[in-house]
Amino acid sequence: MRWLIVMLLAVALGIPGCTSKEQKSNKIQVVTTLFPLFDFARTIGGDKAQVTLLLPPGVEPHSFEPRPDDVVRVNHADLFVYTSPAMEPWAVSIIAGLDRGKVGIVEGGKGVAMVPAPEVDGHADHHGEAQQKGPVLDPHVWLDLDNARHIAGNILAAYVARDPANKGYYQANADSLDNQLAALDQRFKETLAKSPKKVLLHGGHYAFGYLARRYGLKYVSASAVNADAEPTPTKLAELVQLMRREHLQYVYTEELLSPRVAETIARETGAKVLMLRAGHNVTRDDLQRGVSFVSIMEENLQNLKTGLQ
Ligand SMILES: [Zn+2]
Repeated sequence: MRWLIVMLLAVALGIPGCTSKEQKSNKIQVVTTLFPLFDFARTIGGDKAQVTLLLPPGVEPHSFEPRPDDVVRVNHADLFVYTSPAMEPWAVSIIAGLDRGKVGIVEGGKGVAMVPAPEVDGHADHHGEAQQKGPVLDPHVWLDLDNARHIAGNILAAYVARDPANKGYYQANADSLDNQLAALDQRFKETLAKSPKKVLLHGGHYAFGYLARRYGLKYVSASAVNADAEPTPTKLAELVQLMRREHLQYVYTEELLSPRVAETIARETGAKVLMLRAGHNVTRDDLQRGVSFVSIMEENLQNLKTGLQ
């Protein structure tokens, strides 16, 4: 009996010597890479999961370089959720350093059909290796809401596999999220079908190909699919011409990266700049405001409605 009291006290007080699992309660520990995954995992896991985002707030995810303590953090988790090797090549190196039998690896985008990204300025990206393996695929799969629903389904399956006793709980949370995403998709369809302009001109990296494709828009971005490329003066001149030819009144910019390109195009053409968020990551301020993937997409829809008038 005495050992039991000592153990309970140790657990309650978090005395060193207990494993971290005991200190962290019996919630499923989930580490996610990007914001949409974080948001879906916390919604589906509810009060049975402790979900964290690996990326620090505001950090651009394409060029993120994990530190050794990120690997330690993921090694303490029950589930590690990332999008795909194409989106987070750095997640692959984290996985290589994991205790594989212990941490459940969830590739959120598994089973989603990826679409090639167009070449920008004659090279689809600046990573030479990828070019030798054929076309570069656009990794921003979550911006097609059907794919987003599929990703949520993969996360649900991982929870159920980990904790089958609470299957009904996770399923109910996932159903409610799925209904929200389906309704959001319907609003996008109805709103964008009525937009007179069908060209989405983006002064950022190629991130909205899936969204444009789903709602019948033509999408042109200043930079390639990986966020490290800067547009050439020739490319900028082309975009300015396209703005004029299509009589576009708005150019889109993106979060987390410099708005300089969109501002230059706007200055040249007298257009206004509007924000379009791919949602890879959010700022500390966003987290405090309690933004969700759905609320970010609602803001996008409002800005698309304005910009495509
Ligand atoms: Zn991106």
